[in-house]
Amino acid sequence: MYYFHLQGRSPMPAFFQEYPYYYLQHGVPELYYPQYRGAYYLPFQTNYNHVLPRSYVREGQNIRGSWTPFSWVENYAYAFSGPYNKAEVALTFDDGPDLVFTPLILDKLKNYGVKATFFLLGENVEKYPEVVKRIAVEGHVIGNHTYNHPNLTEVSDEEYQSQLQRTDKLIQQLVGYSPKFFRPSYGAIKENQVKWATEQGMMVIQWSIDTLDWQGLRAEEITDTVMANVLPGSIILQHSGPGGKLQGSVDALDRIIPQLQSKEARFVTLPTMFGTTKEK
Ligand SMILES: [Zn+2]
Repeated sequence: MYYFHLQGRSPMPAFFQEYPYYYLQHGVPELYYPQYRGAYYLPFQTNYNHVLPRSYVREGQNIRGSWTPFSWVENYAYAFSGPYNKAEVALTFDDGPDLVFTPLILDKLKNYGVKATFFLLGENVEKYPEVVKRIAVEGHVIGNHTYNHPNLTEVSDEEYQSQLQRTDKLIQQLVGYSPKFFRPSYGAIKENQVKWATEQGMMVIQWSIDTLDWQGLRAEEITDTVMANVLPGSIILQHSGPGGKLQGSVDALDRIIPQLQSKEARFVTLPTMFGTTKEK
């Protein structure tokens, strides 16, 4: 059995030996870029839910990440990564579908026999229904990513529920199921919203590796980010939305998939990773 090794990563700090799940979600705190250190919910930096190699953190760069407290993981159907005792990783693609990148991604996934999870926007489901159907027919899982990508922490409860329900209905009509998996746009969500989604039978899934592919990064850069941070249970964030600068992200699949498969990692959908169904 081959185990993942973390290149250049320091040993798991003592605190995390007791809480390995947190370690996997949030990485080694000392690797965080110093300018982002601060007091949050715990006595170490947890503001970002993945570890970026320092070479990718440019001066003044705004890194998106999770500011949500650990307790949400325990109280709700809410996760940043899957089990760390299985050699499974999940590819996830947000903001689609579109007519350019989603088909290219699907071609590559088919070529490698890999299944992934696509978090779709309702407005794009309406525009590109044939692509939505292709995603489903080819065995990938569809998740809900809101209707038109609002910052959910700034909308009313009614608008929040409407964003999910409209998108849910559109997906249901096209592929025959209401998605269990929901990823909030920007990863931004409030506790009562996570609670509501949990009560509706959904799982709220963030990510543990942000490739930052939407910045138009090259395939090499995206691959390096993944390979430097990947662990069993990693949930990798890429995009497949219209009008993006995503060719590097598409091309990175030709590196990420073979490289991780050579380490005996299995690419799974989120329902497989979490041992549940794709539908609510
Ligand atoms: Zn998004």
